[in-house]
Amino acid sequence: MKKVGLFLLAVMFILGVAGSSWAGDTLAAAKKRGVLVCGVKDSTKPFGFIDEKTSSIVGYDVDFCAAIAKKLGVRLELKPVTSSTRMPDLATGKIDLIAATMTKNEERAKQIDFSYMYFYTEQRFLTRKGTVKTLADLAGKKIGTSKGSMSEQHAKKALPTATILSFDDYPPAFLALQQGRVAAVTTDESILVGLMNATKDRNNYEIPNIQISKEPYGLGMRKGDANFVNFVNKTILAMEKSGEADKIYRKWFPGNRLFTITDKQ
Ligand code: GLU
Repeated sequence: MKKVGLFLLAVMFILGVAGSSWAGDTLAAAKKRGVLVCGVKDSTKPFGFIDEKTSSIVGYDVDFCAAIAKKLGVRLELKPVTSSTRMPDLATGKIDLIAATMTKNEERAKQIDFSYMYFYTEQRFLTRKGTVKTLADLAGKKIGTSKGSMSEQHAKKALPTATILSFDDYPPAFLALQQGRVAAVTTDESILVGLMNATKDRNNYEIPNIQISKEPYGLGMRKGDANFVNFVNKTILAMEKSGEADKIYRKWFPGNRLFTITDKQ
């Protein structure tokens, strides 16, 4: 009984720490350790995915992590996260920074701090060509997305009569579309394009002109970790100014960037 009591006390302590402000200083801790641990996706092209040649994780989000680690003068360590594990992994100290296609919004900002916006996209649908023209075409249908994402929440609101199936990640949701088990996959357009481009039968799919939300991405940090948040914000503003942010964008995306990194958003 005594042991159970102690265990409960320990759990309550951990939850208490996770739920309130972070007392530590990640900036100082990472410098001391000589490593920055970044939580990234590992199967979300072109943000975080495994490069077949090198077997390492590469992508737009990874390049931001690398630039921040470089500025800090420490080694970068990447840890794969999913939409549902990234916030718990940050709270428990498994990672120092989330760079994982994560939308910054007020709801999430109650639990973690965000950097300025470093990428912008919108939520849409990926469908078989010619099957969906308007949102109404998806009413009552099965739609795949990822667990723990905004995509899941927005889809439920936009399509209350549809059945939203939440997979562990986006590739299994896309597989369900390829196998005819769902009528669409929904998430950020930037992710849908990555899924579509990676398939051999790309021409059988399309992203109809149906937008259901705005998705500004932010880098996630522990709540109250002010020195680190300031450092990350300063770094990405400097990357904007020097042209490095644009260079990273052009490495991974065709066409011009339609947003800039500013201290306004
Ligand atoms: N940007 C959305 C989100 O943060 C969808 C992409 C994702 O699941 O990472 O929830």
